Amino acid sequence: MDANKQKIITERIKRTISALEKNHIKASYAPTKSDAVKQAEQLLTAGCTIGSGGSVTLTESGVMDLMKSSRYHYIDRSKGEKELCQAHNADVFFMSSNAITENGELYNVDGNCNRVSALAHGPKKVVILAGYNKIVPDLSAAIERVKEIAAPANGIRLGVQTPCAETGRCVACGGPMTAGCSSPDRMCVNYVVTAYQRTERIHVILVGEVLGY
Ligand code: SF4
Repeated sequence: MDANKQKIITERIKRTISALEKNHIKASYAPTKSDAVKQAEQLLTAGCTIGSGGSVTLTESGVMDLMKSSRYHYIDRSKGEKELCQAHNADVFFMSSNAITENGELYNVDGNCNRVSALAHGPKKVVILAGYNKIVPDLSAAIERVKEIAAPANGIRLGVQTPCAETGRCVACGGPMTAGCSSPDRMCVNYVVTAYQRTERIHVILVGEVLGY
């Protein structure tokens, strides 16, 4: 990457990590995907149970392969409702975040809501892996990021019948946070802002590469 662009990205990551820590959310920097996998591994103990949210970032980074290794008990959410519920009580829960603000907030919008539920309460440890592309200046930008990028891309990936999957953007771009479509497949159901942490559950690994959407 061009050195000037790299400098801007590194500073943005540093600002965000420092803001997250001010909000008592642990955060670390992983320059590459393989560094991220190593950091994730250090947060696990042999034999622990692991749950996860649906995430392109986890697959692209290689963390999904780590979770599924024989050293751990991975609870496969794709198997059904029982596994979705079990993941809520896993020792460790992995996910990405739809956006992370430079004010140190996590912003997540969920349709099934197992992901935001585990983030807010449940697993003793929640590890969030995110490429630098998830960093936005503030909550307004986070809201737009979901409507313009994350939800449409996920809609296309999941094959849902929503306006964003068809046109590439939300019907309510520029509108209030919770404004959206009336589709039975709507992916934007619960809107969760994590602004502070009172216990030591959440650890964010910010990666110096583009991951997921
Ligand atoms: S509210 Fe509907 S159209 Fe808007 S981003 Fe969510 S799923 Fe897509």
